[in-house]
Amino acid sequence: MLKVNQNYLKLQGSYLFSNIAKKVKSYKEEHSDQEVISLGIGDVTRPLTPTIVKALHDAVDDMADIERFHGYGPDLGYSFLREKIAEFDFKRRGCDISADEIFVSDGAKSDSGNIQEIFSDKCTIAVSDPVYPVYVDSNVMAGRTGTYDAESTRWSDVVYMPCTKDNDFVPDLPSKTPDIIYICSPNNPTGKALTKAQLQSFVDYALKNKAVILFDAAYEAYISEDDVPHSIYECEGAKECAIEMRSFSKNAGFTGVRLGYTVVPKNLVDTEGKSLYSLWARRHGTKFNGASYIQQRAGEAVYTEAGQKEIAGLVSYYMENARTIRDGLTSAGFTVYGGVNAPYIWVKTPETMTSWQFFDYLLKNAQVVGTPGSGFGPSGEGYFRLTSFGSHENTCEAVKRIVALNK
Ligand SMILES: *Cc1c(COP(=O)(O)O)cnc(C)c1O
Repeated sequence: MLKVNQNYLKLQGSYLFSNIAKKVKSYKEEHSDQEVISLGIGDVTRPLTPTIVKALHDAVDDMADIERFHGYGPDLGYSFLREKIAEFDFKRRGCDISADEIFVSDGAKSDSGNIQEIFSDKCTIAVSDPVYPVYVDSNVMAGRTGTYDAESTRWSDVVYMPCTKDNDFVPDLPSKTPDIIYICSPNNPTGKALTKAQLQSFVDYALKNKAVILFDAAYEAYISEDDVPHSIYECEGAKECAIEMRSFSKNAGFTGVRLGYTVVPKNLVDTEGKSLYSLWARRHGTKFNGASYIQQRAGEAVYTEAGQKEIAGLVSYYMENARTIRDGLTSAGFTVYGGVNAPYIWVKTPETMTSWQFFDYLLKNAQVVGTPGSGFGPSGEGYFRLTSFGSHENTCEAVKRIVALNK
C-alpha cells in the first residue's frame, strides 16, 4: 500500500517565509504605485568580494584543465579547506578541534535539519523559543515531536525554553530533561548572544544529564562583545557533549554559493558509548554529495588575509544597518533588542498588536516588510524581527518611514 510519510502531514502551515511572500505579493498587486522595502527575510544582499570571486574563477579554470580537473571530492570535504577551518575558526580561539573532525557541507540549514537523523526517534528535543524553524520542523518530519496543539501553538513532545524580555532572551535550563538541545547563538531571531558563562551552564547541564547540544553558530562573525564565545568548544567539556554547525552564508555572503560545515568531535558518544562521528561520517558517505570543488575553493579564499579583511567589511556594512534600525526605532519609542552581536533587531510590538497584526500594520502604513515573531515559536508572539541585510539606502528609508508613524 502506497502511503506518504504521515509525519509530513503534521507540519504546520507552509514555511513562514512563503506566507509572508504571499501577503507581500498580493499587497503589491493592489498597490502597484507603492515601493515596498523588505527588512524581512534573512538573506544577504551585498555581492561576493573580489578575493572570493577570483578564487571561483580560478577554480573554474582548474576544472577546464586536464591536469587540474576534479571529479568526485572526498566525502568529508577537501583537506585544503578543512585545515584552514580548523586553524582559523578553532585553534586560533584556543579550541582543540582537528581538521578531520570537520564535515564540509552545502550549508547549516541542511546540516541542522539532517543531523537529527543519527539519533533515535525516541529522543526528546529541547529548543529555545523562539528559534530558527528548521530545528523543530525537521524533527516533526522524523516523528519526534508528538501532537500539535493549535491553541498553545506547541508540540506535545518538545521541551520549549522560552526566551522573552523577562529572562533577557537567555533560555533557562530545560524544565524537563531532554536528550538533544538546540542552541543558536548569536540567535536568529532575537539577536541575543549567550555569554561564555551562560553557554558553559548549558554545557555543564548536558554533561550532567548525558544530553547532546546541537550548536548553531551561523552568526558567529557578528559577535562584537568580548565575553561572547565564538565557538561552543571555548567552553570546558564541550567536546564531550556538543556538535557545532557553521555557515559561510552570513559572514561571507555565500547564500547563493552554498557552503557550511559541521564539527563532530571524535570522542563524542551516546549513553551506550556509540560514536556520533562514525554515524555522521556514514551518512555523509551514503547520501550527501558534498559541496563542489569550486565552492570549497571559494571557502578557502575566505581565510586568506585579503578574504578576511573583505568579509569583515561585509559584516560591518550590515552592522551599520543594525545600528540605524536600533537607534531609529528606539528614538521613535519602540523597545528593541539585539543588533549588537547579530544582524537581527527584535522589536517589541505595541501592546495592542500581535506579531501578525504588526506585520500588516507596517506593510499597510510604511510599506516595510518584517517577520512576525510568532513564526519562530510561541514565545515570539508580541515581537517582530527586522534584519540588517538590506542596503544602507533601503534601511535608512525603511527606518524613516517607521519613525514617521510614531510622530
Ligand atoms: C541563515 C541561517 C543558517 C545558514 O544556513 P545556510 O544553509 O548555511 O545558508 C543557519 N542557521 C540559522 C539560524 C540561520 O539563520
